Amino acid sequence: MPKHAFLSASSSHRWLACPPSAKLCAEITEQASPYAAQGTDAHELCQHKVEKSLGRDSPAPTENLDYYDQEMESCAEEYCSYVCEQVAEAKKHCKDPQVLIEQRLDFSHWVPEGFGTGDCVIVADDVLQVIDFKYGVGVLVEAEENPQMMCYALGAWSAFNFLYDIKTIKMTIFQPRRDNVSTYEITTEELLRWAEEVLKPTAALAYNGEGEFAAGDHCQFCHAKATCRKRAEYNLELAQYDFEMPVNLDEAEIAAILLRIDELTAWANDIKEYALQQALSGTSYPGFKVVEGRSARKYIDDTAVADAVKIAGYDPYEQKVLGITAMTQHLGKKKFEEILGSLITKPQGKPVLVPESDKRPAINTAYEDFKEE
Ligand code: SF4
Repeated sequence: MPKHAFLSASSSHRWLACPPSAKLCAEITEQASPYAAQGTDAHELCQHKVEKSLGRDSPAPTENLDYYDQEMESCAEEYCSYVCEQVAEAKKHCKDPQVLIEQRLDFSHWVPEGFGTGDCVIVADDVLQVIDFKYGVGVLVEAEENPQMMCYALGAWSAFNFLYDIKTIKMTIFQPRRDNVSTYEITTEELLRWAEEVLKPTAALAYNGEGEFAAGDHCQFCHAKATCRKRAEYNLELAQYDFEMPVNLDEAEIAAILLRIDELTAWANDIKEYALQQALSGTSYPGFKVVEGRSARKYIDDTAVADAVKIAGYDPYEQKVLGITAMTQHLGKKKFEEILGSLITKPQGKPVLVPESDKRPAINTAYEDFKEE
């Protein structure tokens, strides 16, 4: 049985926005990243901890986990406590909630061959909760209208709707390394409407390699992101500003550029990285050559350096207080709070210009302060 579906829940954000990308991605094999392997290890540890705390048999996996460390241990602990809290909460209104861990969830009624694995599913009479553990740190994942979570919820609903009259669906992302616990709640009716009206028809297009290519922030997760013409056209639209008159861009034009600048730089970096890899494998690009990049001097052997400096009568070491992340790992989150809670401050962050849709409140600019006076 394949481990990943052609139209997987985890890539649904991309193929729902750009249906033909599914076929394109399937044709390009990408090397598994160490982050993915790290995530798999973290999931295994989470599964073990939750199974144990539910009183089930589960052998400790740690010695087989390549990426196991103190941070993974405390993240899995936090996740396990969260799941236990949710189970306790469910027990308040349901005598015997069902708790399923690493459950295969089949949503093929809406997505051809669609299935995925739910980290935790809690069915408590009329409430169904799906919890997804994310070990990644790069992208903050929100539960609201998250199609991956909605696909999982559909799979869980399909499996249990014969036994329970499920009315409410709760979907939670637990992302401990971003201090993010995000929950989205909808009615079963709303979920099924989305499944019929949006998911099913778009999945049919994607499965058949049909539909329109559409570029956007979802391209960052596409295997074709470096070579896709649609993405190139989308990003190169900005080049038109080079030829605009008058000489200076106005506020509306700058705002239009700002709106797309992150995607534009991400695309440019993807092209650079792709072209370098291709050039290293023999492709030549007119006007370009591969050279050795700059490098900094480094010690061949730290121990030998320390010994040599000591013999010469000097102290080779510097003593520094551990950084916050390292100290948290060293002490554990609870002890860290206990000992250092009152010694931590969070300075005001540097101002950043973000789209209106950003959830952070706007800060007063110097101009507005002046206006108020
Ligand atoms: S890069 Fe973007 S536009 Fe191109 S196929 Fe992938 S998702 Fe679609």
